[in-house]
Amino acid sequence: MAFDRKAKSEEMMVVTTNYDEEPRRYATIINTTTLACLQRVDTTDLELSSTVKIATRTLHYDSSTKVAIKFDNPWWISKFGITEGGVANTDLPIRVCVYPSYNIHDKLDEPAVLLCTYTWSQDATRIGSLVNLDSPRGEDELKGLLLYNLARLHSTGSSFEEVYAMIKGSYITHHGFDWAMDDFSSGAFALFGPGQFRSLYPHLVRPAADSRFHIVGEASSANSAWNGGSIDSAYRGVWNFLERFKAYGLQEKMIEEWGTVPELETGKDGFAHLLVALGMLTQEQLAKGEKEVIKGATS
Ligand SMILES: Cc1cc2nc3c(=O)[nH]c(=O)nc-3n(C[C@H](O)[C@H](O)[C@H](O)COP(=O)(O)OP(=O)(O)OC[C@H]3O[C@@H](n4cnc5c(N)ncnc54)[C@H](O)[C@@H]3O)c2cc1C
Repeated sequence: MAFDRKAKSEEMMVVTTNYDEEPRRYATIINTTTLACLQRVDTTDLELSSTVKIATRTLHYDSSTKVAIKFDNPWWISKFGITEGGVANTDLPIRVCVYPSYNIHDKLDEPAVLLCTYTWSQDATRIGSLVNLDSPRGEDELKGLLLYNLARLHSTGSSFEEVYAMIKGSYITHHGFDWAMDDFSSGAFALFGPGQFRSLYPHLVRPAADSRFHIVGEASSANSAWNGGSIDSAYRGVWNFLERFKAYGLQEKMIEEWGTVPELETGKDGFAHLLVALGMLTQEQLAKGEKEVIKGATS
């Protein structure tokens, strides 16, 4: 992606992909990829601040892995009386087993799916090391571990051998997914490390390239790692885009339709318009401004 200051306003943003013969040109770009994916895009000519570049390189993304098994019956309901959705936490490698609530009233002699393990962080990389991209192929070790762990988790007060045989016997298939291995995210969600929110967030929410380039997605939100954060950031991206092109009527429509977003102060005393004004400065203007600030602080 590049910014071509000399082009016509509606063609200043340039996108080159492996799939198009000619670059595509736009008036603005709202980037919705994770920062890990953005890191792989050539942004050399996008006039990003050095802090945004640092964010794409260093903002910590946590890992998460899930493996669900399809059984020929919901034995956790029929045999163990688990009649509500919920989780079981354990020190076993599966760590968290999630009992679904959506199929709690399904027939007890029909296939049902159990999220056997839902893990984060190091627990996720450990389970993830057993998950293949074409899950469930070649995952005998994972399958064996899950069935054994499930039997241990559910055999308190009953014979382990009997429970193990019942669980093994009702297995149909499984599917695992490790978000660290997903080329469309390269990690599960942003988990700001110490000092990272304070140092990176203010720069991630500031547009760049004449305020025509906006980064949105959960990582550029105060509610990172949640769906709500990604929606808030999308609101901010669209708002700032409208601000840049002075489409104030459409901003009013946004407020009518969706209200406001707490982390984006849009009123006349807010700072949304300042973000856009800062994003419109050239790199020379920003550098000059920094020098003035340093001069003022040291004189
Ligand atoms: C295991 C797990 C459980 C979660 N549970 C919850 C929950 O219970 N509640 C909750 O609120 N949130 C939950 N979240 C978080 C929530 O899912 C995310 O915060 C949200 O989906 C992030 O949305 P996003 O639009 O920022 O990013 P994404 O949904 O990751 O979207 C990024 C998009 O960019 C695309 N992309 C990547 N590279 C390129 C490229 N080069 N060109 C074009 N497109 C590209 C990807 O295909 C993808 O569509 C969970 C997340 C995970 C991983």
